[in-house]
Amino acid sequence: MRVLVLGSGVVGVTSAWYLAREGHEVTVIDRQPGAGLETSFANAGQLSYGYSSPWAAPGVPVKAIKWMLSRHSPLVIHPKLDPKQWRFLWQIFANCTERAYALNKGRMVRVADYARDCLLDLKAETGIEFDERSRGTLQVFRKQAQIDHLGDDLKVLDQYGVPYELLDANGCADAEPALALVKEKLVGGLRLPQDGTGDAFLFSQRLAALCAEKGVTFKNGVTIKGLKHDAGRITGVETSIGLLKADRYVVALGSFSPALLAPLGISLPVYPVKGYSLTLPVEDEAGAPVSTVMDESYKIAITRLGDRIRVGGTAELSGFSTDLPEARRRTLAHSVSDLFPRGGDVSKASFWTGLRPMTPDGTPVIGPTRYDNLFLNTGHGTLGWTMSCGSGRLLADLVSGKKPNIEHQDLAISRYAA
Ligand SMILES: Cc1cc2nc3c(=O)[nH]c(=O)nc-3n(C[C@H](O)[C@H](O)[C@H](O)COP(=O)(O)OP(=O)(O)OC[C@H]3O[C@@H](n4cnc5c(N)ncnc54)[C@H](O)[C@@H]3O)c2cc1C
Repeated sequence: MRVLVLGSGVVGVTSAWYLAREGHEVTVIDRQPGAGLETSFANAGQLSYGYSSPWAAPGVPVKAIKWMLSRHSPLVIHPKLDPKQWRFLWQIFANCTERAYALNKGRMVRVADYARDCLLDLKAETGIEFDERSRGTLQVFRKQAQIDHLGDDLKVLDQYGVPYELLDANGCADAEPALALVKEKLVGGLRLPQDGTGDAFLFSQRLAALCAEKGVTFKNGVTIKGLKHDAGRITGVETSIGLLKADRYVVALGSFSPALLAPLGISLPVYPVKGYSLTLPVEDEAGAPVSTVMDESYKIAITRLGDRIRVGGTAELSGFSTDLPEARRRTLAHSVSDLFPRGGDVSKASFWTGLRPMTPDGTPVIGPTRYDNLFLNTGHGTLGWTMSCGSGRLLADLVSGKKPNIEHQDLAISRYAA
């Protein structure tokens, strides 16, 4: 079967890989000159299976107000005269109930657990390397109150069988030796030993090269303009190089997916949530993180990627803006300089922004649509890198008409109609 995959971020490339493995004739289209050059380019690098949770959770509306009032706020909202932004905020709010949280968390954990297995298989099959490490995530706390409020989070970890270790400041320094220098700033930490780290861009580029070896065609530098349809089927993709046709079509355009689908009458609740990162070279090996350290006070992840340190965070609602305000850079620089003062030189850091394709329920949208040859693999929000292999494999099974290894009906767009 001929399959067109729209988008070559980490989600489009993993989709293409698993589709090619099923024997399909796959073409990937993207406006960028290569794979992984938009949101998948410089994310925080966490393979964060244990932290696969929706942002919308009980208590979050009150916390959000406190965050917005703090100096290095992890949450920034620029109110716009855009009904989509207000609808998204309302839908997030509506998902902050115990019931919705449990439902959404269950779905996210299912995809993330499957993704871990799929990535392990993919590594075994291909030997792909992407500056990965499997040394866990350490969330560090600077205030006792942060530990006192951990109860609900631990219950959730227990409920989903996620192993964890509660550490004091010395334990944090044992897990991340460079923290010994700043031990007095910490009151403790929560370590999830099964999490990993890796560079999503390197992975996307190298997997794209493996796809090409399997016969996948990449049409880079091509802008997708619209989908043509007739009698409940997609009949082609209008692009800057003309109309392209296939038997099946997969939309993996991240935050730009809703605009392509709206003219078809498909309302996809994905909104861009902007984040920022710094990437700095390691200056002193002994002063750098060995894995991911999450600074709970600023909600910033500091990750070791090869000979670099990646510092990622901030959730900003400002539409599709990609500007780089100095204040956001300062927040990231403050967190990494405070915890790893000798690890890297922030004056040499590159500053980047990306748009997380967020759904209000935190769960990606994977599966069929009411157009019988149109499939979606998008809306991965904060966890697209973590979930990419699982959702790519699931998508390929659904396109191929095979029975997937995990339950999937409640991951499709039809869940919003219910
Ligand atoms: C600061 C930050 C930190 C993050 N940290 C993590 C983390 O630690 N772990 C984790 O799992 N996830 C993390 N994420 C989330 C993760 O990066 C995203 O979920 C993931 O990259 C989404 O991948 P995607 O392929 O869906 O989208 P993208 O990578 O954005 O790919 C979409 C592609 O579609 C193409 N495209 C769009 N419109 C068109 C068009 N009209 N024509 C042609 N091409 C088009 C784009 O060029 C792009 O290549 C983070 C995100 C941010 C911003």
